[in-house]
Amino acid sequence: MDFVDLPDTPGTLHDAMGNQTDMPARKIIIMYHSVSSAACPGVTGSVPIPMARFARQIEQLHDAGFRFGKISQLDQTVDRDTVYITSDDGTIDWALNALPWCEAHGIPTYTSIITGPWRVPAIYPVAHQLQIMLAAGLTSLPMPGLTTEQRDYIDRIYAYETHPVRRRLKGACNLILSDTEARGLLGEPDPAMRHLLSRRFAPAEAYADLTLAEFGPHTVSHRAFDGYVDDYLAREITPCVAALREAGLGTSRCFALPMRPRYPATTEQLADALEHAGFRFVMEGLGFWDGRSRIVPRIDAATLETNLGLAPWKEPAAASAA
Ligand SMILES: [Zn+2]
Repeated sequence: MDFVDLPDTPGTLHDAMGNQTDMPARKIIIMYHSVSSAACPGVTGSVPIPMARFARQIEQLHDAGFRFGKISQLDQTVDRDTVYITSDDGTIDWALNALPWCEAHGIPTYTSIITGPWRVPAIYPVAHQLQIMLAAGLTSLPMPGLTTEQRDYIDRIYAYETHPVRRRLKGACNLILSDTEARGLLGEPDPAMRHLLSRRFAPAEAYADLTLAEFGPHTVSHRAFDGYVDDYLAREITPCVAALREAGLGTSRCFALPMRPRYPATTEQLADALEHAGFRFVMEGLGFWDGRSRIVPRIDAATLETNLGLAPWKEPAAASAA
């Protein structure tokens, strides 16, 4: 099946409540991370979407009349509801499971890549090191000293993390500590950790033969923007763009922010500088995009069915028992 060959008659569109709508065409940007299959399981500690669910989401979007757009054409007018498939980080599971499937089905994709893992010596994102450590067990993990205020803040932002160790550690590394402090807390990766990290990210060659896939920068190290605009551009964004170009991947005029900016920095500060550097959009946060703003929120793939009124995903075991 080639999802690009849509009939000219518009499909029936539904809002998030499942009601038919004649709203003007929307642009909806979907955010993926890991996608797992039996051949290539989700990377350690990730919360992957099963490949079967990914394919089912694309099929449902197609059947609901959505077109599949290219991020490089995000600012062009559309006459039908259009979805844009994006993914952050460039893990091996996304590259080996989702990208070839999309390519075979005529679906454009956009992957925001962390280029630190391609360096010699490699720079691995601390958030991924933490994911692996949390997956290995919750005993004997380092614990940062936090003030009551910091703990309250973490408990609010990461309320969905029910285990206090997971919540505190994620919160400390992602919200409170600087990248250097977080690396210091977690410690130098041991050989087993380095091995896992070295196999976690797709090498540039994994993207070589794709024609519908587009790529963009997601920083070198995945550290949060700290308010130092020139430094962040010089150390994290410009070299990331250069590494993508060197790999022959070209880059879009989009930048996907790796984490929420560290308080009190704001995305707006960075967006001004990025605009001067030739960027058009900054992807950040969750939600529906208004189709105009330069800061572009995305719909998390795990909530796609709910947000777009699609049939809910059932795990295969549950489905066959029904
Ligand atoms: Zn990321």
